[in-house]
Amino acid sequence: MTRTASSVWNNCLLFIKDNIKPQAYKTWFEPIKPMKIAGDVLTIQVPSKFFFEWLEEHYIKLLRVALVRELGDHAKLVYDVRMENTYSNKNPHTVKFPSSNKKPFNSQGVTIPLEIDKRELKNPFVIPGIQKVKIESQLNPNYNFENFIEGDSNRLARSASMAVSNKPGGTSFNPLLIYGGVGLGKTHLGQAIGVRIKERYPEKTVLYISAEKFTQQFIDSVKANTRNDFIHFYQMIDVLIVDDVQFLSGKSGTQDVFFHIFNHLHQNGKQVILTSDKAPVDMQDIEQRLLSRFKWGLSAELVAPDYETRISILKSKMFRDGVEIPEEIVEYIAKNIKTNVRELEGVLISLIAQASFNRKEFTLSLTKQIVDKFVKNTKKEVSIDYIQKVVSKYFEMDVSTLQSKTRKRHIVQARQLAMYFAKRMTKASLASIGSQIGSRDHATVLHACKTVDNLTETDKQFRKYVDELTKKLTF
Ligand code: ADP
Ligand code: MG
Repeated sequence: MTRTASSVWNNCLLFIKDNIKPQAYKTWFEPIKPMKIAGDVLTIQVPSKFFFEWLEEHYIKLLRVALVRELGDHAKLVYDVRMENTYSNKNPHTVKFPSSNKKPFNSQGVTIPLEIDKRELKNPFVIPGIQKVKIESQLNPNYNFENFIEGDSNRLARSASMAVSNKPGGTSFNPLLIYGGVGLGKTHLGQAIGVRIKERYPEKTVLYISAEKFTQQFIDSVKANTRNDFIHFYQMIDVLIVDDVQFLSGKSGTQDVFFHIFNHLHQNGKQVILTSDKAPVDMQDIEQRLLSRFKWGLSAELVAPDYETRISILKSKMFRDGVEIPEEIVEYIAKNIKTNVRELEGVLISLIAQASFNRKEFTLSLTKQIVDKFVKNTKKEVSIDYIQKVVSKYFEMDVSTLQSKTRKRHIVQARQLAMYFAKRMTKASLASIGSQIGSRDHATVLHACKTVDNLTETDKQFRKYVDELTKKLTF
């Protein structure tokens, strides 16, 4: 019996059909066409890049099991992405991939070998004496500069990042610290530096790691008594990208080891890139000597993109996914989602998914439903003004009294509580909280937060204030 692409795929489909909901099967598997079988490699055609990403994200395990059943352990799957869109059969549009379409590091084009994600450090520990071990960079090629839309909100951070990637270790931006709120592109930019350096200097050892994972590895190394190997491993890196360094706060052991690694790298002209959700002055519980290192190079802030930039980001994403969406819909999304690029993309992805699931057109009413869900789900941030009003009212005083310079105990407490809630419930920096609550400096706010933390643990009455105010502020 000869094995054809169709016969293999049809058998896979029988298995898949048994394992997922009919609607999902219809949407995601019926449109696939088997193209070719060569040895253990099956090529299937999918209608768009979005389709391919969706399959990879949601059905990769199922596909793998199905394929291994048919073709054995070495089964591989290759996607052939069609340059035509079949979401709506009425007006098929063309998929346009930008000419600079990046190749993933380990595979070519969109030909992805079917392998379960193994983005883990292969062996984080060097065997003594062996210098260049192969280190997986942990970079995602999709997070590159070409995909990162420039705007006023990110101009400094972006150009500093480009400068660093053109001359790693050779600019005064060492370390380069990129900071800003959630979903504004810190990880993307940090990764883009690594991706660009890998392209320009393939021989350089680049490593991207989250501060959280770094901490975990360190703890493991202490347990396993391999702390020195851990340090040696990191000291070998040419370009170290540590994401979300605020995670190190309060973790003095990890800070200590990072301090030594940092010094070694810096002294040897290696490049360090850090990201954080706060500016260095607002970082809490990070040792002074480490903080001062963070400030050695350049700190560049990412802020929320303006309307034009939001439109460009949406369009770039549509372009890459090969979908066309009416202008008014794009504008509607950009007008309503303002503070977070991840949410902007989230709305777009939901919209595409919903439209293709139900084989619907992209309509404004569908868009409104989706945007509403996103807006509702993101907690409304209370303002510092509102917090001051609520706290003053609770303690039966005026806002001006709360802000005054008096040292009367109950007023000081009220002020400290307002600062504490402002820190907890808004994204404002310590400095900006201080300036809004009676023109105090960031150290005063920090002190207030610590005092409130201590008192809530030791003082029952105070604990009650905090609880009651929390309730008032969250409704
Ligand atoms: P952060 O690490 O700051 O929380 P991310 O880097 O994860 O944010 O960004 C969130 C999402 O928004 C990512 O998918 C990223 O690609 C996208 N993004 C952020 N900024 C931009 C930009 N300027 N252009 C294009 N995409 C962006
Ligand atoms: Mg991030």
